Amino acid sequence: MTLHDTYDSTNIFAKILRGEMPAVKVYEDDTALAFMDVFPQAEGHTLVIPKDVEARNLLEMPPEKLGPYMLAVQKVTKAVEAALKPDGLVVTQFNGAPAGQTVYHLHFHVIPRNEGVPLGRHGAGGMADMGELEKLAVKIRAAV
Ligand code: 5GP
Repeated sequence: MTLHDTYDSTNIFAKILRGEMPAVKVYEDDTALAFMDVFPQAEGHTLVIPKDVEARNLLEMPPEKLGPYMLAVQKVTKAVEAALKPDGLVVTQFNGAPAGQTVYHLHFHVIPRNEGVPLGRHGAGGMADMGELEKLAVKIRAAV
């Protein structure tokens, strides 16, 4: 997938937004939805996606919707920090396949980091246990 292409409404995050695919959700408002990454690079890896946009990446996000979306990204980052108390957090976002993007609906990754715990490889980890994701989600929801 190149950086510039048409939005494919069958992408997995669009399906999650439409309720066609399940997700372990932690936060939702008018602008954004946050849920646990099923192939986490670290415990508590959370994704924040914008609603009601066909933006494949940051470049395509309508500017007037960017501010409210980024507020949601910060809110979820604060909740992950408060819930899991990591030593640090990576907040990141990829644009285009050569940059590492694999799902073409804009999203920010919120990844807790702890001293001495290596970061799992992006897009190469195993699938998480849904029960374990739900336990983490309960803590994050309570902290939002
Ligand atoms: P990207 O590679 O596009 O930056 O990130 C896509 C992310 O979506 C990856 O971290 C990947 O683990 C996650 N992911 C892929 N498919 C699913 C899915 O079906 N459900 C959830 N919750 N996450 C997914």
